[in-house]
Amino acid sequence: MELIFEKSRPGRRASSIPQCDVPEVSIDTVIDRELIRDNVDLPEVGELDLIRHYTSLSRRNFGVDVGFYPLGSCTMKYNPKINEDVARLAGFTSLHPYAPDQFSQGNLQLMYELQQYLSEIFGMADFTLQPSAGAHGELTGVMTIKKYFDKKGELRSQMLIPDAAHGTNPASGALCGFQAVTVRSNDEGGVDIDHLRELMTEDVAGLMLTNPNTLGLFERNIEDVATIIHGKGGFLYCDGANANAFLGQTRPGDLGFDVIQLNLHKTFSTPHGCGGPGSGPVGVVKDLVPHLPIPRIAERDGTYVLDYDYPDSIGRVRAFYGNFNVMVKAYAYIRSLGPEGLKRTSDMAVLNANYIKEKLKPYYDLPYDRICMHECVFTGRRQVKENNVHTSDIAKRLLDYGFHPPTIYFPMIVPEAIMVEPNETESRETLDAFCDAMIAIAKEAKENPELVKSAPHTTAVKRLDDVLAARKPDVCWCP
Ligand SMILES: *Cc1c(COP(=O)(O)O)cnc(C)c1O
Repeated sequence: MELIFEKSRPGRRASSIPQCDVPEVSIDTVIDRELIRDNVDLPEVGELDLIRHYTSLSRRNFGVDVGFYPLGSCTMKYNPKINEDVARLAGFTSLHPYAPDQFSQGNLQLMYELQQYLSEIFGMADFTLQPSAGAHGELTGVMTIKKYFDKKGELRSQMLIPDAAHGTNPASGALCGFQAVTVRSNDEGGVDIDHLRELMTEDVAGLMLTNPNTLGLFERNIEDVATIIHGKGGFLYCDGANANAFLGQTRPGDLGFDVIQLNLHKTFSTPHGCGGPGSGPVGVVKDLVPHLPIPRIAERDGTYVLDYDYPDSIGRVRAFYGNFNVMVKAYAYIRSLGPEGLKRTSDMAVLNANYIKEKLKPYYDLPYDRICMHECVFTGRRQVKENNVHTSDIAKRLLDYGFHPPTIYFPMIVPEAIMVEPNETESRETLDAFCDAMIAIAKEAKENPELVKSAPHTTAVKRLDDVLAARKPDVCWCP
């Protein structure tokens, strides 16, 4: 395909600038000519060429509106478009962030009620909506734990992290000054309780548990884990980024978790990825509420206020009050689905993942063969051993079948990992079509491995040299 620069012809325009209605002034009278570049090679094209160029580029792209996008650990799910419309209402978008409380009542009420809903759904005493992402929420949650021990004058230097945790967990612990100590997984992909008992001392501030863990498995021993952690005065932290797996089924607060961060941009109607705004609310138990970031949103006799009067707060973790437009979408999502709808979300997410797991199980090995949550993890070990076809080859071949590849080589504790998250919104026909493609590829790997190893064959760009592209990115066009 030609670049827009190659389509350029001198003098072509896509729009015309209106006649100047003030006297023209020569640029030389206001600025030194030397300072002006005269070599900015901007393309010159007509309107039709411009529109066609970008429309055809957009058609080469892949998105959830084009096809199945089973990227695990990221929940690239369909998010109802109606919630985008709601978030775009002028009352939400036109309010100045410095407008006084009395002029912001509706927006403050929305934030206050969202905090209440999240507290109810996840069984926490209170929530802050300030953090901008999952990792930012983790940092905020761990900061409240640190503040708690500082306040008590207790010095604790370690944070326990299971090896099946998300990679951001040890980073968040370390940023708060804790030494991250790894807890091993047992044979069924859960926390090794004996190892945990060995490690848990009064020098440990807490344990960060990703639940469901990065294998897509529900931690079976949470109550035992909580007893061990609480027994030595520590806090149990829940990385709830993938809460779509248990929404409405169980409440982390009831299981013994003391802190939870959510990713509204995974579970509550904002897509994850693409660098767009996110929101990582943090819920805590009563003991940690005084340490939540300020300002807090409070209600006084039917009036909503921004309350800064929390002397034991960790302070601000962000400018203003968080990514408001993501909160509006989450609010609309919760209100429109209601308790039954939210529960159905996790019912369907788990059902769909297990459907794929069972259907593909004869063709791809399962490192942990048990009921999964919202995603299932295969390993391409068999394909490597038998035909030297790697997981990356299988992923590339899926492109030829019109599917976005699932997450691969993550979680790291599974060699040649293939992590599939269908999420709750896909139809049975779509799941079947994806499984058929995966089965066909397993067959090709046996009968014609070269076909898989040289894929993709039908895309605009063939197989890229990933290493060269990362080390020596060539993104400039020179005439
Ligand atoms: C996505 C994810 C995170 C990080 O969230 P960001 O918004 O990308 O910072 C943390 N933990 C888990 C389990 C996740 O899936």
